[in-house]
Amino acid sequence: MLTAQPRSRAWREIDLEALAHNARVLQASLAPGCRLMAVVKADAYGHGAAQVALRLRRAGVKSFAVACLDEAISLRLHGLEEEVLILGYTPPEEAPALARWNLVQAVADEAHAAALAAQGIPLRVHLALDTGMHRLGIPADDHAALARVWELPNLSVEGVFSHLCVSDSPQPEARSYTHDQVERFFAAAAWMKARGLDPGETHLQASYGIWNLPPLPCTWARAGIALYGVTSGGTPPRRPLDLKPVLSLRARVASVRTLPAGAGAGYGLAFRTDRPRRLATVTIGYADGLSRALPEQGGQVLLHGQRCPMVGRMCMDQLLVDVTAVPEAAAGDVVTLIGWDGPAYLAAEEMASVCGTITNELLSRLGPRLPIVTAPQQAGACAAAEFAV
Ligand SMILES: *Cc1c(COP(=O)(O)O)cnc(C)c1O
Repeated sequence: MLTAQPRSRAWREIDLEALAHNARVLQASLAPGCRLMAVVKADAYGHGAAQVALRLRRAGVKSFAVACLDEAISLRLHGLEEEVLILGYTPPEEAPALARWNLVQAVADEAHAAALAAQGIPLRVHLALDTGMHRLGIPADDHAALARVWELPNLSVEGVFSHLCVSDSPQPEARSYTHDQVERFFAAAAWMKARGLDPGETHLQASYGIWNLPPLPCTWARAGIALYGVTSGGTPPRRPLDLKPVLSLRARVASVRTLPAGAGAGYGLAFRTDRPRRLATVTIGYADGLSRALPEQGGQVLLHGQRCPMVGRMCMDQLLVDVTAVPEAAAGDVVTLIGWDGPAYLAAEEMASVCGTITNELLSRLGPRLPIVTAPQQAGACAAAEFAV
């Protein structure tokens, strides 16, 4: 129910209690001794990294992952003192910042390890192992390379990890590929232990690894999209978990007008009325992170609990919706693009699939122009300011 709204034209509404719930559900789904690592890269997939990380810390999460140095420093500046792992490449010259902020850096390959070590600054690292994705990592079976990296000065290897690249697929070939990746990972860890090299923390599963594999004997599992309570779209997970969507996306009606049959509307007059129609202009557009292709691909919004089609061409800051079926539509009304509106629901997965992408891309592109409002604070209309980004 929408009882009170912020004064913004369009906003992201974040349900931090749903987030904490998801963290608990995910943690409970892991093997004993395996802890949830929260992936909060890309501003926590558009949910606001600082508030997400601080709420998850209260829920007991002890480790966080980001994509780059600036994201990690931003968490530190917001007071997060827990473990922060940078999953992506950091230029070796940034070694002083890694040390200064007490960050853990993923080592992209042997050359990256050597370049980091050559900076002459003690660094905490996790070794990425390439078990088959061929994106980052030292080949998991290249024992000589692993041994050389362990010999490097200045690097304290505190963990080893890998990433599964087809764990979302139900295809038999994909399942067997994932199985091989898992085997290679544990074989590498076993080889290290046999050589007296402590792998430290071990982590392999991301969201689809958690959903589609049995619990694995790692010390961490890195959840991103699942934490936000949605799937990427596509084939439903094999091991469904009771997760709750965290983000709703809302905007407002700016103006409503009735057009006669045979009129055109919007850029290019791309929408043509076949009969008299009522159009609402809605205060959100592609500069807020929506795909410009949404209207022509069948995008919809909720207004007064009813689905209404987007029409015409999306503008940078606005879009047109056909509200002929909703006579009570009026300026100032709240429009829901993702989330609940009374009994009606629009899933982020649906919007992503309509524009031919995955939920991860859709959410992480939601723009900084959309203030973040936390759900319980809706009653205080000015709460938007607290997390305005
Ligand atoms: C982004 C990312 C994750 C999180 O992936 P989800 O599918 O969103 O859970 C985990 N590990 C690595 C290495 C990543 O890049």
